[in-house]
Amino acid sequence: MEIDSNLLFQDDLPANHRSGFVAIVGKPNVGKSTLLNAWLGIKLAAVSPKPQTTRNRFLGIMTRPDAQVIFIDTPGIHHPRTKLGEHMVRAARQAIPDADVVLFLVDGSEPPRRADREIAAMFKGLSGQVILAINKMDIVAIEAIEANVKAHSALAEFDETVCISAMRGDNCDELLETVMSRLPLGPRYYPEDQLSDQHERFVAAELIREQALRHLQQEVPHAIAVVVDEFKERDNNSLYVSANVFVEKSSQKGIVIGRKGSMLKRIGQDARAELEAFFERPVYVDLWVKVRKDWRRDDRFLQELGYSGG
Ligand code: GDP
Ligand code: MG
Repeated sequence: MEIDSNLLFQDDLPANHRSGFVAIVGKPNVGKSTLLNAWLGIKLAAVSPKPQTTRNRFLGIMTRPDAQVIFIDTPGIHHPRTKLGEHMVRAARQAIPDADVVLFLVDGSEPPRRADREIAAMFKGLSGQVILAINKMDIVAIEAIEANVKAHSALAEFDETVCISAMRGDNCDELLETVMSRLPLGPRYYPEDQLSDQHERFVAAELIREQALRHLQQEVPHAIAVVVDEFKERDNNSLYVSANVFVEKSSQKGIVIGRKGSMLKRIGQDARAELEAFFERPVYVDLWVKVRKDWRRDDRFLQELGYSGG
């Protein structure tokens, strides 16, 4: 994967420092979220999306003295049923060839299914490493273990196979070490302290932008950018999202706001519904329309949005 040189942060790292991109793939319900949460903690440590045309999403980042792992988002890891689903499927197809390590998670409590075979078929001819993690070993009937492990191992040529229970944490540390050891030598791509809710913010901005474009249709074609300014969890488990909607000209600002604010209100209401479905909790949305002249030609601004560079 190509790296924007702005993103390199080379401190006093050991000579054998490793870094790279890891895609966790697997059909729904095999335990991808459970594993990732076990590794990264409840709150995902996310970074802004890679500023690339492919726009791979970064799901989380793990920084250690000896390594930095960037987990690439794949569909269904987080929120399987969303409007962004289509985009995420495309992202996954891109994530596999882009990854330094593909971690293929399967459910060891049952034999492989068609979905497993379909995913495994994507591994043919990959340059990266592919690790098979057989999950849910805690509930596999003893007499089924051998057959299930054998059948999953036969799905593709794997560089390594590890049996785990993501739920119990069994062998998860070992799996992480295996993943780390398969990463190429390389620098840190992100500063250590870049642990934030950037991913959630990005998703929120995309959902708001989607609604803005839907309502505005041809009127303000693609002149809309959305940047989430505040993303806060409130005590009652609701979310507060405040976002700036940027347009390129003051004439567009009037269109986005609409008569007595009617357009902005509709965008806000629909965005709110999308956000609530996505984050599965009540969401309060504040939208502010701002003019940022010719933002599409403003490289720094585009970088802030995560759209340019690379
Ligand atoms: P994802 O769709 O691949 O992200 O799967 P999830 O992480 O959401 O897990 C799906 C279901 O499997 C949840 O009910 C988990 O609690 C359960 N699960 C995940 N890992 C394990 C495991 O190691 N053992 C058992 N018994 N259940 C697990
Ligand atoms: Mg999941």
